Amino acid sequence: MLDKVLIANRGEIALRILRACKELGIKTVAVHSQADRELMHVRLADEVVCIGPAPSAQSYLHIPALISAAEVTDASAIHPGYGFLSENADFAEQVERSGFRFIGPRAETIRLMGDKVSAIRAMKAAGVPTVPGSNGPLGDDDDTNLATARRIGYPVIIKAASGGGGRGMRVVHTEGYLLSAISITRTEAHSAFGDGTVYMEKFLEKPRHVEVQVLADGQGNAIHLYDRDCSLQRRHQKVLEEAPAPGIDPDARAQVLEACRNACIDINYRGAGTFEFLYENGEFFFIEMNTRVQVEHPVTEMVTGVDIVKEQLRIASGWPLSITQDDVKLDGHAFECRINAEDARTFMPSPGRVTLFHPPGGLGIRMDSHMYTGYSVPPHYDSLIGKLITWGEDRDIALTRMRNALDELLVEGIKTNIDLHKDLVRDSYFRQGEVTIHYLEKKLES
Ligand code: ADP
Repeated sequence: MLDKVLIANRGEIALRILRACKELGIKTVAVHSQADRELMHVRLADEVVCIGPAPSAQSYLHIPALISAAEVTDASAIHPGYGFLSENADFAEQVERSGFRFIGPRAETIRLMGDKVSAIRAMKAAGVPTVPGSNGPLGDDDDTNLATARRIGYPVIIKAASGGGGRGMRVVHTEGYLLSAISITRTEAHSAFGDGTVYMEKFLEKPRHVEVQVLADGQGNAIHLYDRDCSLQRRHQKVLEEAPAPGIDPDARAQVLEACRNACIDINYRGAGTFEFLYENGEFFFIEMNTRVQVEHPVTEMVTGVDIVKEQLRIASGWPLSITQDDVKLDGHAFECRINAEDARTFMPSPGRVTLFHPPGGLGIRMDSHMYTGYSVPPHYDSLIGKLITWGEDRDIALTRMRNALDELLVEGIKTNIDLHKDLVRDSYFRQGEVTIHYLEKKLES
C-alpha cells in the first residue's frame, strides 16, 4: 500500500481523499495556497506545505511547486482530485517521471480521452455507442462538410476536439449557416484551446445526461458501478445528481454498462473513470470520458457500497480490484445536491465568513463538506462548499430524505443555493424523473 499521499487539491474533495487515506493507514500531505490556510483537511493532514499565493495558476496549477512539495515531504503518490490538474496529461507524466505515482490513468490514456476526436474513435472501436457524426476532424473542403451534415441530418453541432467546460460548441439548424459556423468555431477553438480541430455531431434535441462509473486496475480487470443521471444542469454545470438513472430501458442499459467495461479492458484503463452519454429515445450516445474522480461520485458509492476513492488508492498501490462485477449490487437510490456559495437567483458567487454551519443528520444522510462555523470561503476558487447526499430504499424515500435534510441544513453569513435545491426537490416533473438537460434552464427562465 502507498505510504504517503500528497493531495493536490482543496475543499471538500481534499477532505474526502484525506478520509480515505486515513482509513487505509496512508499518511497525508496537504498542500494549500496562502488563501487556504484554514481549510479543514489542512488541519487534519499529517504534513502541510504552502505552495504559493492565492491565484490557482501560482498554486494548485503550479506543477513545479506541487512536485517540490512531494519531494520535500517524501510522498509516494499524488492524488489530483477533480478539476485543477486532474486531467492534465503533462502533469501526470511529470509526476511519474519525478518518481511519484499519479493516482489516475497513465498520461497516454488521459491524452487519448482529452482529445474528443480520438476518444470517440477509441470508444467506437471498443463497441461503445457514439453520436452519429463526422467520424473524425472536419477538413477544409466545403462540399465534403456540407455533404457530411446532410448525411447526419440537421440540426448538427460543431464541437472543438480540445473543448471543455461546455465551451467550443455551436449548433447549426440550417444549411445556410453551416460553413460560417465551422469557421467561427475553428477560430474560437484555436484561440481558446490552442487547437483549431473541430468535428460534427448530430445535435440531440431532448437528451438526458446519463453517465457510467467504472473502476479498472490496469491489470486486465474492470468493473462498472452502474449509472447516474446528471441532467439538472445550468450552463453545462451539474446541479443535482442521482443514482441509478430512473426509467432507463433495461436492455439498452445492460448493453451500455457492458460496453463501458469492455472499453476499459480494451484501452487498458487504470483507475476511476466516467463515460458520459446523452440518452434519448431509449438510446445511449457517448460524448466524452472523464479520467478522474467526479464531484458526483458519492451517489454511486451510496447505492453500491463501493468506496471509489479507496479503490483509486488501492489501484495506485498496484493492487488488483478488491471486487468483481458479481460483487457489485445496486441497493436503493441516492441524490446529491451541490451546495454553492452563490446567490440562489443571480448565481453570483458569495464568498465570506460562514457565521453558522449546521449539517443535517439521520439515517441515509451524508454531508461531504469542508465547511465549519467560522470558516471563510475565499473568493479565488470554485463556489462549491459542500455536497448533501441522501440514500433511501427507493427513489421516493431518498427524495423525501433530501427534502427534510435541506430543511435542516443551515448555512449563515454567506448566500447559498440551498433555496434552489428546496425548490427542485419539490418540482413535480423532477419528482417523476426523466427530465432532459434543458429542464433546469427553462424552469429558471420562467
Ligand atoms: P464539455 O467537455 O465541454 O463538457 P461535452 O462534449 O461533454 O463537452 O458536451 C457538453 C454538453 O453539451 C453536454 O452535456 C450537452 O448538454 C451538450 N451537447 C454536447 N454534444 C451534444 C449533442 N451532440 N447533442 C446535444 N447536446 C450536446
